[in-house]
Amino acid sequence: MKWSTGYLFTLREAPTDAEIPSHILMVRGGYMRKLAPGIFTYGPLLLRALRKFEGIVRDELNKRGAIEILMPMVQPRELWEETNRWTEMGDGLQKLKNRNGHDFCLGATHEEVVTDFVRSDVKSYRDLPVNLYQVQTKFRDEIRPRFGLMRGREFIMKDAYSFDIDNEGAQKSYKLMFEAYSAIFSRLGANFRVVQADSGNIGGNQSQEFHILADSGEDQLFVSEESDFAANSEVCPAIDSWVAKPPVDELPTEEFATPGLKTIDELAKSLKMKPNQLVKTLFFSASDDPKVIKPIAVVLRGGDEVNPIKLKNHFKLANAPALLNDEEVVKATGASPGSCGPVGLKIPVIMDNGMQKKQNYIVGANKDGFHLKNVNHGRDFTPTAFADLRMTKEGDASPDGKGKLKAYRGIEVGHIFYLGTKYSAKMDAKYLAQDQSQRPIEMGCYGIGVSRTVQAVIEQNHDKDGIIWPVSIAPFHVHLCVLDPDNAEVMELANRYYAELNERGIEVLMDDRTERPGVKFKDADLLGMPMRVNLGARGLQAGEVELIDRKTKNLEKVQPGATVEKIQAWFKEQMKKDAKN
Ligand code: ATP
Ligand code: MG
Repeated sequence: MKWSTGYLFTLREAPTDAEIPSHILMVRGGYMRKLAPGIFTYGPLLLRALRKFEGIVRDELNKRGAIEILMPMVQPRELWEETNRWTEMGDGLQKLKNRNGHDFCLGATHEEVVTDFVRSDVKSYRDLPVNLYQVQTKFRDEIRPRFGLMRGREFIMKDAYSFDIDNEGAQKSYKLMFEAYSAIFSRLGANFRVVQADSGNIGGNQSQEFHILADSGEDQLFVSEESDFAANSEVCPAIDSWVAKPPVDELPTEEFATPGLKTIDELAKSLKMKPNQLVKTLFFSASDDPKVIKPIAVVLRGGDEVNPIKLKNHFKLANAPALLNDEEVVKATGASPGSCGPVGLKIPVIMDNGMQKKQNYIVGANKDGFHLKNVNHGRDFTPTAFADLRMTKEGDASPDGKGKLKAYRGIEVGHIFYLGTKYSAKMDAKYLAQDQSQRPIEMGCYGIGVSRTVQAVIEQNHDKDGIIWPVSIAPFHVHLCVLDPDNAEVMELANRYYAELNERGIEVLMDDRTERPGVKFKDADLLGMPMRVNLGARGLQAGEVELIDRKTKNLEKVQPGATVEKIQAWFKEQMKKDAKN
């Protein structure tokens, strides 16, 4: 592509709604433009990077026998009713009506559609196993789209679905996709981790996420310092790394006035205690239907936080339960939030495991402006259950008993699930087994956020001047800065390089604008192609052309006649290095 005839617009200023480096750089580089919140037009450079990444994805999946198809974006309600996800998916599922008043939704994920496809064709064990995938636009009406392509409403996903005759086959398919994903993210040169994960709305009971590590990542990951244990904080079991004190005598309960003290911090300050010496009670609705309130109380140490995903899984809900509002808390306890506790409640009381050995603690008295001290579970109230409900913290013990946990931030770029027969059973997707019985097909599903990954790569590979593309998905390989485009000799040589490099498969973005060199260098650094070539009249006179490595900024001067060979050799070397990663 030549700048003069291409479509390239860079900006000096970052847009105000871009908060993280990758988003800022992509907008400044003209890689994309926002149409509406979470909805973007991809410019020509971004599209090239996306297509290259899709190429890597296709390559690794095709190698392992997966077959590409393309499913519809607009999907009928009836199909989603079969699995109850028309309701379960909540408002994230974008619904619409056609002119006849029929309900449809935009594809947020395609388990229903692909299962419908397969049940209409697959009849016998001979037709299995099969793994079908697509690369397609997805739509999710995310509550808070942000960080550009990281959390978009419209985004590109690769989704694959495996169909097997039994669990053994399904496990094999899962393992194959695990390998494919590891190969895909390695080819980006990305620093990534695989962690145990929650299955969310997709379901099933075994899933792993692939995360590109970055400070701006939305997810917190816990990794053992001594073993290969790694989990998303959403599901990471919380285990104290210290041993609880031996038991003491239970003291008589006393009520005391705490006027105006509502939060744990206020109470701790007034009582001159640490938050963890106090106990807090929070109230949620353990129901998937927002119209039906099922109040429950969760009791945990004052310094701990509730993990909503653990709560969701404890109650086998489709979505994380909502906190009760003040009015609903008063209805459930008789007191305002801040004065509530577990004693005398008529609703289920679930206690975090961290409370098990706690004694003689302080809780709200369920009477405005009062608390109780020396409260003990078992004696003063009976908990419905103990469970692991709190957020894990850095320094907690690793759940496999080996070492302590260290926290990282990650961007979830891939997610693989073993589904079992969750969809096939509900949707009646069966096959005829060898013993002539009809059996539900065993499934797995596997997603990669294609557009999110490309931005995550930038988040991991940039400096203060701009993007630093890995060769594997760089929109172009070489950024050729023609410093004196009005000089006929220079322009002729530039055109020759352009043609010869392209012929050898080295893609060139040629800046042939009439602009000052400084402007061109800034843009080249911003756009981030792996190598910049400076070609100008003064250099030619001295018999040299400059090659600059975008990553190291290392500058090499070469003879004009040797430039093409040198560049080719450099890229060969780079690709060899990448292949080793
Ligand atoms: P998240 O937890 O980030 O909301 P998810 O678990 O809902 O994602 P999946 O249903 O597992 O996502 O989708 C597969 C992949 O699609 C994810 O691993 C992620 O890379 C990508 N993805 C999901 N939601 C978005 C989004 N709003 N914008 C961009 N990519 C997304
Ligand atoms: Mg996910």
